[in-house]
Amino acid sequence: MDKKRRQFLKIAGLSTIAGLGAPAALNMLLKGEPSPVSFASSGGGAGASQGAAPTGVRLGMVVDQRVFDANKGLAEKCITACHTTHNVPDFGNPKDEIKWIFQVPYEKAFPGKSHNLRNEKLHDSRFLVFCNHCDNPPCVRACPTKATFKRKDGIVAMDYHRCIGCRFCMAACPYGMRSFNWRDPRPFINKETFNKEFPTRMRGVVEKCNFCVERVAKGLQPACVEECGGTGAMVFGDLNDPHSEIRKVLAENFTIQRKPSLGTLPSLFYIV
Ligand code: SF4
Ligand code: SF4
Ligand code: SF4
Repeated sequence: MDKKRRQFLKIAGLSTIAGLGAPAALNMLLKGEPSPVSFASSGGGAGASQGAAPTGVRLGMVVDQRVFDANKGLAEKCITACHTTHNVPDFGNPKDEIKWIFQVPYEKAFPGKSHNLRNEKLHDSRFLVFCNHCDNPPCVRACPTKATFKRKDGIVAMDYHRCIGCRFCMAACPYGMRSFNWRDPRPFINKETFNKEFPTRMRGVVEKCNFCVERVAKGLQPACVEECGGTGAMVFGDLNDPHSEIRKVLAENFTIQRKPSLGTLPSLFYIV
């Protein structure tokens, strides 16, 4: 059993200790109840927090752009894996577009770190962006119904049933990582790849990357990470575990984050 798999079984195993299986975990999550996969936590405790040593789990991701640059087409495969796994509709026009993960040039991903004399590689690269699962998420504070909420493992999740479509969260997210269903999305989901295990949404509801919470509850890697196979292009894990693979990658590489000066404390890191 490889190291990644062991780490995920450790995470998922805690839900079993709580006496609840993965389906119950997902069910409760979708109903907006506190997750049983909620590891004893300091409540917002996170590796990026200052002060006392963090306790509990904080999930995060490293995106290694060097690997994506060396493997043309891999980023597109990750996008497809995410969108098919989560029944993301394809309206066929940019105005209505729903995006959980997509690519942008360097200056859009990291506007504060860009200048006109940056090297050629950064001109040509396109970076995968998705919800940062911020440790200090402004979207959560802006939501009047708690339809978007932060779990104790750091995932910023959605309860679609509670969403009233006010879009305050979209205005609050400084990264533009949320999409709004202006139209009924169901007729625009690819029928050939439809995933009957993941709920569809309705008109008037916001959606975004959920860090594959439904897969994590089963001890699986996120779909995008799985699509990367053994390339190491994306590494997912517990930022609070000093022995986790993600901490090893962070310790061994220089990484940057999107708009760190805003104080949102993203859980996504990029090796450029
Ligand atoms: S990236 Fe945006 S949507 Fe995601 S947690 Fe941060 S503020 Fe919220
Ligand atoms: S659109 Fe939905 S998730 Fe966003 S702030 Fe309004 S109720 Fe909350
Ligand atoms: S973590 Fe899951 S939901 Fe988020 S971008 Fe990757 S596949 Fe999509």
